[in-house]
Amino acid sequence: MTSNENRVKMLILGSGPAGLSAALYAARAELAPVLLTGAQLGGQAALTYTIENYPGFPDGVGGAQLGELFQKQAEHFGTRVEFDTANKVDLSARPFKVTTDAGEYLSDSLIVTTGASPIHLNVPGEDTLLGRGVSYCATCDGAFFKDKKVVVIGGGDSALEEAIFLTRYASSVTIVHRRDELRAGPILQKRAKENPKIQFIWNTVVTEIRGSAKMESVQLKNVQTGEESTFAADGIFIFIGHTPNTQLFEGQLKMDSHGYIEADMLMQTSVPGVFAAGEAADPHFRQVITSAGMGAAAAIQATRFLEAETG
Ligand code: NAP
Repeated sequence: MTSNENRVKMLILGSGPAGLSAALYAARAELAPVLLTGAQLGGQAALTYTIENYPGFPDGVGGAQLGELFQKQAEHFGTRVEFDTANKVDLSARPFKVTTDAGEYLSDSLIVTTGASPIHLNVPGEDTLLGRGVSYCATCDGAFFKDKKVVVIGGGDSALEEAIFLTRYASSVTIVHRRDELRAGPILQKRAKENPKIQFIWNTVVTEIRGSAKMESVQLKNVQTGEESTFAADGIFIFIGHTPNTQLFEGQLKMDSHGYIEADMLMQTSVPGVFAAGEAADPHFRQVITSAGMGAAAAIQATRFLEAETG
């Protein structure tokens, strides 16, 4: 990186659907945006095996494949994609200063699309057995569980979607849910309930994940009766929601009590010139299409912001 390359009009943090859509719009507005990918290229969407609800793909599209198409389109119009991660920001004055693994950027505007990460159960064994039975990504780790017995935690769309995916490999998939009613939408509920490899354990939480070299069992507790039991399994996939990746902006951007960045209808944050889009600012929808839409809106508004300054 030369110093000229570090002085930019627009810097975009994150390479999920929001970031790459923002980059496409900013590039077409001839702002020569720089996009820092962050550690997870393509964001969480890239970890999804098939996306069936992104318009234009009637037969579904692979999450990673969709991310590659987004990136190709953004680069085609002039986005510079850097495989780099921001680890410090100074939004107290413009140009904004962003320190990364590889250097430093000064940018007239910033679009924050840093996404969200899976929430942990916070039970004994979860951290120590990570990668040795404990997983937060069926697409990444499912194939390691061929003909094995796995449990899935959660009752939302993610848990059911991933449980159905895991039936490709696992001999049985047991969904453990803390209530007796699922939060997931009706289509996924029907598919999961009709799948012969999927069973449910209701009104139950995991209190411990056990194993030495690798996971061997989970300790379960029925929340109604208090009864405890041991359930033997080779893997546990945890899908109990997400937390936004916004720690970098603490004390600099206004956030809600869960750490989601507060952005208005125009994707403007509490700092003029800083915009936020996608799951870092969205606790409600969390879809590829809504994140992409927010990213486009953020870039349009950022373009207007920069144009208003230059007259
Ligand atoms: P979610 O809808 O928030 O569901 C989280 C699930 O985990 C809930 O069933 C919740 O139980 C359970 N849970 C939370 N904390 C727990 C804990 N400490 N111990 C045990 N269980 C716990 O999260 P999500 O499934 O990741 O979905 C998030 C959003 O993305 C939703 O809007 C969803 O529609 C969307 N999404 C859509 C698709 C799709 O359209 N194909 C796919 C994935 C996600 P309770 O039900 O009791 O609260």
